[in-house]
Amino acid sequence: MKLYNTLTRQVEDFIPHEEGVVRMYTCGPTVYHFAHIGNLRTYIFEDILEKGLKYLGYEVKRVMNITDVGHLTSDGDTGEDKMAKGAEREGKTVYEIAKFYTDAFFDDCDKLNIKKPSVVESASHHINTYIKMISKMLDDGYAYISSGNVYFDISKANDYYQLSGKNSEDLMIGVRDTVEEDKAKRNPADFVLWFTDSKFKNQDMRWDSPWGLGYPGWHIECSGISGKYLGEYLDIHCGGVDNIFPHHTNEIAQSEAYFGHKWCNYWVHGEHLNDQTGKMSKSKGEFLTVSLLEEKGYDPLSYRYFCLGSHYRKVLIFSYEALSQAEAAYKKLKNRIRKLNRTPDLHENKIDYYQKQFQDAIADDLNTSNMLTLIYDVLKDKELTDFTKLYLIEDFDKVLSLDLIEEEKEIDEEIDSYVLTKIEERNLAKKEKNFGLADAIREELLEKGIRLIDSREGTTYEKL
Ligand code: AMP
Ligand code: ZN
Repeated sequence: MKLYNTLTRQVEDFIPHEEGVVRMYTCGPTVYHFAHIGNLRTYIFEDILEKGLKYLGYEVKRVMNITDVGHLTSDGDTGEDKMAKGAEREGKTVYEIAKFYTDAFFDDCDKLNIKKPSVVESASHHINTYIKMISKMLDDGYAYISSGNVYFDISKANDYYQLSGKNSEDLMIGVRDTVEEDKAKRNPADFVLWFTDSKFKNQDMRWDSPWGLGYPGWHIECSGISGKYLGEYLDIHCGGVDNIFPHHTNEIAQSEAYFGHKWCNYWVHGEHLNDQTGKMSKSKGEFLTVSLLEEKGYDPLSYRYFCLGSHYRKVLIFSYEALSQAEAAYKKLKNRIRKLNRTPDLHENKIDYYQKQFQDAIADDLNTSNMLTLIYDVLKDKELTDFTKLYLIEDFDKVLSLDLIEEEKEIDEEIDSYVLTKIEERNLAKKEKNFGLADAIREELLEKGIRLIDSREGTTYEKL
């Protein structure tokens, strides 16, 4: 498996710490609002990565957090508290908001065939873990207390800027632009591990700690939860590119300070989905959610197909036109597959060849568009029986998860509803004495292998 590693800025051979086992951590959603389809692009890429690794024979232990506390609008230590903002917007408590949007997130994931990671943990359920980590970092001199908050001292970190490639000067520019410079920090890039003397005095979520009543910073959640469930050596850490700095940079600093050694070898980041105006937003312009796409008549899996058509490291621009094109291609593909003859007749000669090609596409830094192309190659291959094609497509769909193979029952239901609509149209045509149209409908169905049977009770049909 080759993967692009943000840490080294190159495509590398993937070698996990334990042979055949991948310990994978992915940052979860901040549950203050619905996920937009940009967020979901990142989860689709992570889902394909997990399933792709499994296809290659790895056992994947994957953990994800749910951020229900500590995430400020700046991603750093400034701005508003996202959860409190969501609660205020809706006149609910942060707990109600967290529950509602966590459920909504997993509903969206279901619609997009994104598998739920085997471990999903809410950040607010692991306060003692963070307290333990922060206490040790204080004891070891990596952290300090100032004006009531606990800060991480980035000057103690080993190569703090390695992941982002930024330097302290880039950061100083950011700091000069920041209105709310925090005077309590030793270094402007230091970050909060535990808030007590925060500006959010009415914060609902607060816990006792050795440093007073307060709550954890966003970054410590991911270090805490991943360490607790995956141990001190992580193989892959994912997220969107916006997470590289400061979130993942700070996760590395804390985890390596706490464990005392290198923590995670591969950092894999998904590029953003942008709309035509640029950055996707939950507050400005059209808030693009899966439900909105459904309201507009799109199948959520057309969006998955749309995402898979481009590489996860390329910016993808969303437009309804592009989505419609993807939907047309996706539906056409499903139709071609539906027409394949299901009579069992498996020819094994080329199965290995195609499976190897599919593995190569996965191993090529997750080349999803090549994975899709292989489906078309299989369909075109005259040496394969229909049944063998179905076998291979079903196998590839374990990774692609596009519901490419429908159950016989599903197909029947779809045909049934289609024919019934046509019968209604024909009845109406007859009523209006438009016999030409009525006959045309009968002929059209006959061409599709459906014969209409008229009787005094009405019209039924049979499949030829
Ligand atoms: P959040 O709920 O804001 O914590 O973000 C959830 C995930 O979505 C994170 O992994 C982000 O990196 C990712 N993300 C945010 N915006 C986008 C976008 N426009 N396109 C793709 N991923 C995004
Ligand atoms: Zn995280």
